[in-house]
Amino acid sequence: MMRGRIVAVTGGKGGTGKSTVAVNVAAALAADEDLLLADLDVEAPDDHILLSSNLEDEQPVNVMLPFIDYGRCTKCGICAEVCDTGAIMLAKDKTPLVIPRLCSGCRSCYFACPDNAIIEGQRTIGYTYRTVISLDGGKLTLVTGMLREGEEHTPPVVVAAKRRALSEDANLYLIDTAAGTSNTVSTALDGARLTLAVTEPTPLGAHDLDMILEVAGAMGLESWVVINRSGIGSEGSVEEVVKKHDARIAVRLPYSRDVVDSYVTGKPIVLSKPDSKPAVALRKLADTVREVL
Ligand code: SF4
Ligand code: SF4
Repeated sequence: MMRGRIVAVTGGKGGTGKSTVAVNVAAALAADEDLLLADLDVEAPDDHILLSSNLEDEQPVNVMLPFIDYGRCTKCGICAEVCDTGAIMLAKDKTPLVIPRLCSGCRSCYFACPDNAIIEGQRTIGYTYRTVISLDGGKLTLVTGMLREGEEHTPPVVVAAKRRALSEDANLYLIDTAAGTSNTVSTALDGARLTLAVTEPTPLGAHDLDMILEVAGAMGLESWVVINRSGIGSEGSVEEVVKKHDARIAVRLPYSRDVVDSYVTGKPIVLSKPDSKPAVALRKLADTVREVL
């Protein structure tokens, strides 16, 4: 049962180090906090890899899949008209054919069919997992959403994983969203008390940060900016974006080989090299998050 605050870790684009920040903040807080980490980057969840853990306790995410009862179907074509994902195509003779991969399970065709010729079936488009991970001096629960290979509709998996995460008892829920500004990201951000927007000091980083801060602002969320790989380029464009959105720079994480080494060892840098510059900065970020919440 949800009782704590939600902090979302997000990033305008992939590869900014969003998961690294999420996993390290989680690891830094795990010893003292009753913490749940939710990996909602369902197309490429990697928090468990950064924590050297195998995913456990699998549950399927099922959506509705229509089946046509051709004995009742009058080939009116209405189902294909109402399907906005193109999952129903009409053959030359107007026989409707369902393409499962494109179906989001929205049920529009089911409700629109005037002849009750559509039967509700089911298919599995992804999975959620719950893994309890022991860390030096603490433990955390990781809930992961994973889209099945070849599937395209991420929202039902994000919703299922978030629901499973928030059904757990914790006083802090750290949510690692997908990159970008899709509705998958806004679904993950919804309800957060604070957003940590991870970016890097490049013009592209600044551009994508602008977009994610726009989304967070429209959702009424407070945003802190984390500049990753600080020192690799000019930070002027990022600072301008931060000012534009009235956000704040929470921390600058210096570029360091130690971070790459922590990927190889499969141990968050706050635990593997606690005295390194990035680890000290990440721990400071975690402490600030804890103080504010
Ligand atoms: S359930 Fe929705 S997405 Fe799937 S075929 Fe029907 S209308 Fe299209
Ligand atoms: S809406 Fe119903 S009756 Fe019309 S083509 Fe589709 S399945 Fe057949």
